[in-house]
Amino acid sequence: GSWSSSDSVISTDSSGEPTGGSPIRVVLLGANGVGKKSFASIFAGASDGMDSEDCELYGGERMLVTMAASPVDFPIPITVALEDEWALEHSMQTGDAYLLLYSITDRASFLRASELRITLRRHRPAQHTPIILVGNKCDLVRCREVSVSEGRACAAVFDCKFIETSAAMQHNVWEAFHGIVRQLRLRRDSKEA
Ligand code: GDP
Repeated sequence: GSWSSSDSVISTDSSGEPTGGSPIRVVLLGANGVGKKSFASIFAGASDGMDSEDCELYGGERMLVTMAASPVDFPIPITVALEDEWALEHSMQTGDAYLLLYSITDRASFLRASELRITLRRHRPAQHTPIILVGNKCDLVRCREVSVSEGRACAAVFDCKFIETSAAMQHNVWEAFHGIVRQLRLRRDSKEA
């Protein structure tokens, strides 16, 4: 796997394409070690790295993994934004929807998620960009540093949805993805209305 690449993409030719035409880009944001690559691997259905093309059936839909360097002509490319300045800047300018991750076992990552949300708002002041705050590693109950209610309260302040997940147990990961797709659809529908 070549995760040194700052910008890796997973795409799906999902029939539930949120927009006609140009691809919608979903970005995974969050501090180092919160589980972004684990999320991406689940989306990719790839357990052994994601630099090879890999397919997975999910809900009857075909997932396809590509690297950012290759042409992206699928409806929902997913980008993992690594914690470097370029990747963050780039992803904040180009993303259409965001999964903002922290680890429930790491309060610093929770604070980092707040910082990222504020930065995101600066990049996207007027738009209703779909964002879900994701408290990952909820399987590690004994190491919990951030409570569910803190997560929920933070999401309320930031006016975004909230979900707790475990990439390790594959719990709620697809729910988070479907949540963001739902928001994209709602946004599209309200634009069309
Ligand atoms: P990234 O730096 O945000 O991309 O984080 P990674 O996906 O590389 O995950 C960092 C570490 O946390 C890895 O060792 C993962 O196996 C582990 N990890 C990720 N998600 C979970 C989870 O939900 N539960 C547990 N127990 N470990 C996880």
